[in-house]
Amino acid sequence: MTTTETTDETTRMVFVDLAAQHAEIADEIDSGLRRVIQSTAFIEGPDVKHFEEEWARYCGLAHCVGVASGTDAIEFALRAAGVGRGHEVILPANTFVATAEAVVRSGARPVFADCDDTYLLMDPATLEPALTSATRAVVPVHLYGQMAPMERILPIAEAHGLSVIEDAAQSHGATRFGRRSGQWGLLAATSFYPGKNLGAYGDGGAVMTDTAEMALALRRMRNHGGIARYEHASLGFNSRLDTIQAVVLRAKLRRLDVWNELRRQAADRYNQLLSDIPGVRLPEVIPGNDPVWHLYVVRVPERDRVLATLQSNGIPAAIHYPVPVHETGAFRLGRRRHSGALPVAETAASEILSLPIHPHLSSYAQERVAECLAAALT
Ligand SMILES: *Cc1c(COP(=O)(O)O)cnc(C)c1O
Repeated sequence: MTTTETTDETTRMVFVDLAAQHAEIADEIDSGLRRVIQSTAFIEGPDVKHFEEEWARYCGLAHCVGVASGTDAIEFALRAAGVGRGHEVILPANTFVATAEAVVRSGARPVFADCDDTYLLMDPATLEPALTSATRAVVPVHLYGQMAPMERILPIAEAHGLSVIEDAAQSHGATRFGRRSGQWGLLAATSFYPGKNLGAYGDGGAVMTDTAEMALALRRMRNHGGIARYEHASLGFNSRLDTIQAVVLRAKLRRLDVWNELRRQAADRYNQLLSDIPGVRLPEVIPGNDPVWHLYVVRVPERDRVLATLQSNGIPAAIHYPVPVHETGAFRLGRRRHSGALPVAETAASEILSLPIHPHLSSYAQERVAECLAAALT
């Protein structure tokens, strides 16, 4: 048995093992899907309502509104906070491009802040220089599974009357000083893209808030501007969470804490295995954070060569993200306020390397990653 597993892993290691996740919940998914198909409640069926309640409770918040993607969730959260045309929104430059896309789609202009060199999270010191009279909101991103330093960001936001909207797409279950990701801002947005810690079998997302009024506005926004059929009280969109995805998310939510714990164990193992390799900078955790290791990101010299070597040895390493958002084609021109002034994010982009991490990663696989990384660097 063990030999077969070992051979399998040697031949194809994966970055995220969605098949192993499915194997754990296959029976629940089968019966859940049968239930949805029999009821034909494909849109806003009872599973959506139940998942929203379960996810809100898990996050320690009063309301969750399921939507079609994480990108929509960020856009809708901004709109619910009253952000739109003529406004500016500050976000970190080192994030997935969707954070910035959502700002543009809300009608506002994205303004990029830098990250700190140790944790690669939005650096609060770069917030104040980015403020103008048009700034209305700030979107901290809990990158790689650990929370941004919210206790430093909130006072700045408060002093300038800004709404704080958390991008919690990579931080399902993460806490800072024991307080959950999503519990710090006016609103939080998350994604259930398949590869996230809590992932669907397609696209999905949610907005979380403690404010009933905002939850109602969001329910309208995702459903053509109304709760009831043919009620269009305000301009809306078609962006609901599929019932079928809700079935998957309910099953996976029951495993999330266990799977996050397995990710923590995998991160600890990497920390031990990699600590003696010269040149490797290990990921660091801000005191007070309990991260959920969505990604395990090291920094290495000659990153592109190291990545190519790992990949040619069958190690599915990756880069999150190769280009800071303010330097991507879509955001380079016109909207950029700080030409060349985000040096930390720009340098980090040439050093970061994401090693495979997921709840079902074996210690054998991690040893192979460590061996290959050591060989590539010596
Ligand atoms: C995945 C992700 C998103 C967007 O989510 P989608 O569901 O793919 O639209 C936004 N922000 C961050 C940080 C992400 O990782």
